[in-house]
Parts: sequence; C-alpha cells; structure tokens
Amino acid sequence: MARFFVFSIVCASFFTSSAQVARIPYAPVPAEEAHDLTKHFSHPVGFHTWEFYGDTADAWKRWEMVENFSFGKNRGAIPMIADLQSLHPYFRDKVIELIRVCKSKGIELAVVETYRTHAKQNEYRSMGKHYTRSKAGYSKHQYGLAVDIVPMKDTVAQWNNIALWRKVGVIGERLGLRWGGRWRHLFDPGHFEWTGGLGSSQLVQGKFPIVPKSAHYPCVDEDLKELQRHWKAWEIEQAAVARKETTPGIKSFAAKSGDQGAGRE
Ligand SMILES: [Zn+2]
Repeated sequence: MARFFVFSIVCASFFTSSAQVARIPYAPVPAEEAHDLTKHFSHPVGFHTWEFYGDTADAWKRWEMVENFSFGKNRGAIPMIADLQSLHPYFRDKVIELIRVCKSKGIELAVVETYRTHAKQNEYRSMGKHYTRSKAGYSKHQYGLAVDIVPMKDTVAQWNNIALWRKVGVIGERLGLRWGGRWRHLFDPGHFEWTGGLGSSQLVQGKFPIVPKSAHYPCVDEDLKELQRHWKAWEIEQAAVARKETTPGIKSFAAKSGDQGAGRE
C-alpha cells in the first residue's frame, strides 16, 4: 500500500501539480487535496467490497466499487470499478482536476466508472447497442484512459440536466480531455477520455500514450506496470462474476431492465 501510494501521489501528483500551472487556467491541486479526492470522494451509494489488506499487491481489492442502479440507471449486474487509483496516472490527475474545478463552481461530480474489465465491457455489449459501440478490448476504459462521471444535486444524479452537462463538458475540454457529450451517435456526456492521440487499435496492441514532457511523470512506467497487475487481478475476478451472472434468471433481469437514457463508451 505504502509503496503504491508513494508512486502514485508523490511521483505523479506532486511533480505534475507544479508543471500544470503554466498549461491550464486553473490553480493546481494541492497534494493533500488530490489525495483526499483520490481516496475519499464520496459516492451517494458507494461501498467497498473488500476488507482492508496491508499488502501493496492486494491494493486492487480496496478499490471503490459502485453497484448497479446506484446512480438511478441500469449499469448491469457486474459492479463498476469507480476508483480513481485504477486510472492512468496522468489521466487520473486530469480527472481529479476536473472534479476540483467543478466543485469550485458549485458542481459536485460523482465517479460512476473508471477502469473496466473485458467481462464488464462484454456485459454492456450484451445489454444493447445504446450501451456501447465497443467490443471488449476497444473501450478506453479498459486502459485506464476513460472515466464516467455524473453531476449530483442533493444526492440525485443529474443525467438529463443538459445545461449542467455543458458546463462540465467545457471544463473537461479545457483540461485537454475528449468529451462524449460531443458524440452524435452515442451521446455520452458523462464520458471523458484521454489517449494522447492513440487510437483503440494501438491501445489493443499494448501501446500507452506518451505523457507530455512538460507534465513530468518520472514514475509513469512503474505505475503502469503496477496498474496492469491490478487490472489483471480484476479481469480474473470479474470473469468469474460474469460466469455466475449468465444464469438464465439474472440474464433476463438485465435485459428486462432496459435502458433509461444515454449510452456509454
Ligand atoms: Zn465511458
């Protein structure tokens, strides 16, 4: 735990906070606040699936999870990983900045989903075309390079508040993120991603985007290796969940629940 924390926060957040001053029109996130947002951002119905383990290798077991319907929408039977620690370090800091800037403007954001396993992506595929256009392996979520968020008002998710989405979208784009609210075929205003110009096929081949030199992420390679170990552990975990969930009763429940709005990448 301690080593992962040092890698992530000291290597990524601390060095980059100072570097981001010149590039974005917002003040950098102080290291303490970044840690607070990373570890304690409260979900209305968030919970931890696992008990605390003191071992770095087991850090993935402590990742924040979100259950289906937690934010008033059907997101399938396999729980969502919604922990900012599961994201690529550079992208994660962008998301923390997005949350912080929105908060400073009176908009509270909840994290709905961060990293996504093959099993989870396949589940969205099975739920219909309005859920995702991407087959397993082709969603940016599967490389820690996408996040789904939703603005909250009095603990109620504001899925249909277009004016609010626009404000959040503009803030995300000013931070250099690609916003799903611009997409015509699968309007997905809660989706933000960063790929540094890489396409899905390059990500599938195992390439990671190059972090801008000015951002100074000296430990990014170690961070990503550690992250990939955690992602792998979740793949095994959720593949097992998916096998259980494909019993006829549960499958028909997911299909019957249908969708109540925007799709997701
Ligand atoms: Zn998404």
